Order: sequence, then structure tokens, then C-alpha cells
Amino acid sequence: MNFIADALNLSTSAASRLEERNIIRRAFVKHPFFSDIFEAYRLDKKFGQYEEGTVVLKTVDGLKVVRGFPKIRRILTLDPALKRHFGERIIAVEEKMNGYNVRVIKAGENIYAITRRGILCPYTTEKARKLVNQEFFEEFPDYMLCCEAVGEESPYVPTDLYGIRNLEFFLFDIRKSETNEALDIETKEEIASDFKLKMAPVLSRISSDNVEAVRDIVEELNSKKREGVVFKDIEMRVDPLKYTTSFANCNDLRYAFRYFNEYGRDFMLSRIVREAFQSFEFGETGKELEQRCLRLGSSILLPLIESIREVKGGATICERVRLRFESVETLELFKEHLRLLGIDFRLEVERTEPEVVVVLGRVMRGTTDKITGILRGALWR
Ligand code: ATP
Ligand code: MG
Repeated sequence: MNFIADALNLSTSAASRLEERNIIRRAFVKHPFFSDIFEAYRLDKKFGQYEEGTVVLKTVDGLKVVRGFPKIRRILTLDPALKRHFGERIIAVEEKMNGYNVRVIKAGENIYAITRRGILCPYTTEKARKLVNQEFFEEFPDYMLCCEAVGEESPYVPTDLYGIRNLEFFLFDIRKSETNEALDIETKEEIASDFKLKMAPVLSRISSDNVEAVRDIVEELNSKKREGVVFKDIEMRVDPLKYTTSFANCNDLRYAFRYFNEYGRDFMLSRIVREAFQSFEFGETGKELEQRCLRLGSSILLPLIESIREVKGGATICERVRLRFESVETLELFKEHLRLLGIDFRLEVERTEPEVVVVLGRVMRGTTDKITGILRGALWR
């Protein structure tokens, strides 16, 4: 494991602290599909300047450090948070796409897709090799493409709200892998257009006190059932901020309450608090306010009641998604990968020709058992 300390440039004392704190984890399942990678480890927590999800790879090209994608902080009110954070800078308002975070890098002859916490994902890698233009890396070998992977056939965040049947990658940042230094918005747009990389839409460039314009954008996105926006200094010198639509807040709640025992209370509380601040800032009263209350209440109660009905009917609560693989080998590797992640799953193979199609079920054991118990007369605690 010495190579990790070397790659991260740690002093001997920092290196031993890293060992003691036990935050180094395996980052992949070794397999010929990852043929350019000999070893890979990730940081399971932030360590010094290194973000959670930072990966150290021993590759055919030598040691590589891929920094974790930085956390984006959230604002609950547009005014005065935007002005206070960005001051006189011009900000780009980008659409926040709802999928999962992927960093795409190249090692040896192939590209590799790394998920948020720093794991090389075989499913995402297979898709990236098909969909992401590798020529980018010939010109920018030391950079990573930070993308949101969005669509229905998504093992982590499946959604049908974009009309994407399979999975697509939307570029939102281009960063130097080793330092996390980000290219400015204009350069990013030029490169995306040169290499035909699909981008998360840059919706507008505004001054940070133009709250009216932001509000219009957020309301428009809300009506299209989109997630929200990320605000970025066009020079990328100040940290970005995020803000979500009411639809997204309620959608998260729907999900969290359907599987209420697997989700933290913080997750639920924070979404409700967001709704309150948005309603307050948007000055809602009367019918509008009533509608928000109904929306929020329905998002909490309906999915929960549905889960109770299902368990009563004898079912196990399960999230199902259809996934497509190019070969049985990558499917087998993906199963190993799910075990590495500690996910409780069931898998049904629908067909293997001309491609492998499966339905992956994530078993929500905690919620199922909790409901079963209560229906049999168990007490809440
Ligand atoms: P974190 O902020 O640490 O990522 P989180 O899981 O709570 O934690 P989200 O609330 O989903 O994250 O918001 C941040 C994420 O939004 C980013 O990590 C990225 O995957 C995603 N994202 C989608 N669109 C964009 C965009 N245009 N710019 C930046 N990030 C985007
Ligand atoms: Mg997200």
C-alpha cells in the first residue's frame, strides 16, 4: 500500500494516520475488463486536501491520482445567498441533471468510469466506452470528464423523466484529475462542441443579484419535472452552489418514504425544510400554498401506504430496474461489483441474445421487515 502514500505525496506520519483511520478501501474488482489497471484504492472519507472518493490507481501508464468530485453546497434562499457567495462575478446557471456522478478517465488503451465514492463501475464503464468520445483524452490525457449518467437503465438512480430509455452521459465539468482544477465555462463549452460531448445545459449567464431571472428558470424547470440548477462562477474560481425545484424535493421524499427504513431522517427533514424556505421566498399564499402542502403531503404518505399494501399482499419491497450488458462476462463482473458495494440484490435474466438484458431488484430488507412487524402488532420501537 506504500504506493498510495507515494502517489498522494504524504509524509510518513500522514501515511500512518491514513492507515490508522482505516479509510482506504478497494476501488474495483480485478478483472480483464479493467485490463489497464493493476491495483486501485479509494478514500472512503476526506483526508487532508483529498476529497472522499479520491482514487489511486496503479496502471499500465504508472501511478494515477483521480480526485474525488467536490461537494457542492446548497442554498435554501436565492436572495441574499447568491449575491453573498458570488459578489460581482458573472454566474452560469446550469441545469442540474438527476442521475449519478461519474468521472471518466483514460488509462492505457481504454476509458474507465468511476462513481461518486470512487469505485470503478463495470456497467458504467461499458456504457462510457460506447458513448464517450475517446479522442478527448488524446489531447487532454491528464483531465477527467465529470458527467451525470442519466436514464431509465441506471443501476443507481433510475429515472424516466428525461425520455432517455438507456443511459446517457451529460458533461458538467472538465477537471485536471490530479488537482481537481476546473476549466472555465467557455473552454468547457468549446471542448464539448469540438469533441461532440453532450453537456448539461448552460441555461443562462447572469449577475448574482438577478434573482428574478433565476426564479423564472427554476419555475420553468419545475414545470418540466427537472431537478434544479447549479450556479457556477464563469471562471470557476469560486465554488459552485446548488438549488432544487419543488418537484425534485417531493420526488426525493416519495422515494425516501417508500423505502423509509433505508433512508436517514436527515434526508427527509432537509427536503421538507427546503420546501418551506422556497414557499416563503416565492411569497406563496392561498391556492398556491395549498397546492404545495398537498404535493408535499402526497409525496410522503402515498408511497408509504403503497409499501404497506405491498407487504400486506406478501411482497418484498424491491426497487427494480432493467439493465443491458454487452456480454455475460460484464454481467458477471457487475454482480461481483454489487457484492463489493454490499448491495442486497436479486437478478433475473430476460435474455442473452443479441445483448444481455436483466432486471435488477434491490431488496429493501429493512423497510419490508419493519412493515411486516408492525402489521403483526409490533410496536414502533
Ligand atoms: P454532493 O453535492 O456531494 O455531490 P449529493 O449527492 O447530495 O452530494 P446532489 O444533491 O445530487 O449531490 O448535487 C450534486 C451533484 O449534482 C453533483 O455531484 C453532480 O453529480 C450532479 N450534477 C448534475 N448536474 C450538474 C451540473 N450541471 N453541474 C454540477 N453538478 C451537477
Ligand atoms: Mg444527484
